Amino acid sequence: MLIVQKYGGTSMGDCERIENVANRVLQTKKAGHSLVVVVSAMNGQTDMLINYTKFFSKLPNEREVDMVLSSGERITSALLAIALEAKGQKAISLSGRGAGIITDSIHTKARIEYIDTRKIIELLEEDYIVVVAGFQGIDNKGEVTTLGRGGSDLSAVAIAGTLKADLCEIYTDVDGVYTTDPRIDKNAKKIHKISYDEMLELASMGAKVLLNRSVELAKKWDVALITRSSFTQVEGTLITKEENIMEKPIVSGIALDKNQARVSIADVDDRPGIAAEIFGVLADKNINVDMIVQTIGRDGMTDIDFTIPQTEVDISKKVLEKFQNSVDSIDYDCNIAKVSIVGVGMKSHSGVASTAFKALAKENINIMMISTSEIKISMIINLKYAELAVRTLHSVYELDK
Ligand code: ADP
Ligand code: ASP
Ligand code: MG
Repeated sequence: MLIVQKYGGTSMGDCERIENVANRVLQTKKAGHSLVVVVSAMNGQTDMLINYTKFFSKLPNEREVDMVLSSGERITSALLAIALEAKGQKAISLSGRGAGIITDSIHTKARIEYIDTRKIIELLEEDYIVVVAGFQGIDNKGEVTTLGRGGSDLSAVAIAGTLKADLCEIYTDVDGVYTTDPRIDKNAKKIHKISYDEMLELASMGAKVLLNRSVELAKKWDVALITRSSFTQVEGTLITKEENIMEKPIVSGIALDKNQARVSIADVDDRPGIAAEIFGVLADKNINVDMIVQTIGRDGMTDIDFTIPQTEVDISKKVLEKFQNSVDSIDYDCNIAKVSIVGVGMKSHSGVASTAFKALAKENINIMMISTSEIKISMIINLKYAELAVRTLHSVYELDK
C-alpha cells in the first residue's frame, strides 16, 4: 500500500518525540508499505514565529511572514529524515518547493492549486521514505507561501489525493474525533466513524482536530482518512462517506470556537448595495466572514453584525476605516465564543434547536447570534460561558451516554 502519514506539532514536539515518530514510521515501512510523511513544526513554534514578526509591525509584510513561518516545518522534516537515516532507513526531506506543492499567491493563507508529484514518485521508487514539510508551498513565481493555521493537514490530504494513496493517517495528540473536545468535557466519547459532511462542519466550527479544508478535499477526492494518536496503538476515527455509516445519531458532536470576533456596525444607511460594499472590501482582503445579522431598518438606518476570525481584526479595522464617517460606530468584540451543534440526523428531526435554546436559557446563558444549516446550529455567546455551554449541550443531547 501507499500510505501518507501526517504528524502534528505535539507529536513532533521535541527530539525524543521525533524519535518516537521515526519508530512508528519504520513500523509501517517494515510492514511493506511505501510512505510519504508530512510533518508540522514543533508544538508552539509557529505561534512563536508569528510573535516575532509582530514585534515590528501589527501588519507585517506577508511575503516575509511566510519566509519566517515556513522555517518551522523545514526543521522538523529534516530532523525526522536524520532520525530515520540514523536507524538505517533511506529517507529524505523535501520543503514545499521540493515536493512540488504549487499554490496561489495569497500569502499566509494560500490555496493549493496542484502538486507536481514527479519528485516524490521518483524518490518512492528509489525506496526512500519521503518526509514533506507541511503547511507550505510555492506560487507560480517561486515565492514561498503558507497555507493557513493547521495547514499541514491539508498538505497531507492533498498529497494523498494526488498520489491516489490507499490511506491518509493524521497522527495527533488525541486518539480520534470525539463528541466534543475531550479537553473541555471529560465525558466526551470517541466517534469510530463519522461522515465527511459532519466532520467538515465540526472542523469548520472549531474542532481543530482536523483542518476543515483538508476534510473538504478528502471528500472531493474520496481519500480514506483516519485520525489517531501518535502516542498509543489505539484505533482511531475513520472519516468516510455518509452511506458507509449505519447509525445516524441526530446530534453527533458539539464544537467550540473561541477565536471569533464580532463586528457591530451601527446606523448604516439602509440602501441597496451597502452590504455589497462592506463585505466587498473584506472579501478583497480574503477576510473570512461567518455569521451575518442585519436588523430591520428604521428611519432609513440599519445595524449590521457579523463575525470574523480574531486574527483578522487588525486588518478589518484598517479596511473598514473608510466607512467610519458614514456610520454611527464600528465596534469589535473579542469576548465571544461560537458553540455549534452538528449532526446529519438533524435533517429529518425538528426541535433540535429549541432543545439547545432551552438548555442554555436554564444556565442563564444569553445567545447573541444564531445561524443554522441543514446539519448544524451555531450560536454566539459570551466567552466566559463557552465551556459551560459546551458541557450543557453535550449532556442535553446525551452524547455522554
Ligand atoms: P496537531 O498539532 O496534531 O495538528 P491540533 O492541536 O491541531 O493537533 O488538534 C488536536 C486537538 O484538537 C486535540 O488536542 C483536542 O484538544 C482538539 N479537539 C477539538 N475538538 C475535538 C474533537 N471533537 N475531538 C478530538 N479532539 C478535538
Ligand atoms: N505549524 C502550523 C500551525 O501551527 C501548521 C500545522 O501545524 O498544521 O498552524
Ligand atoms: Mg492541527
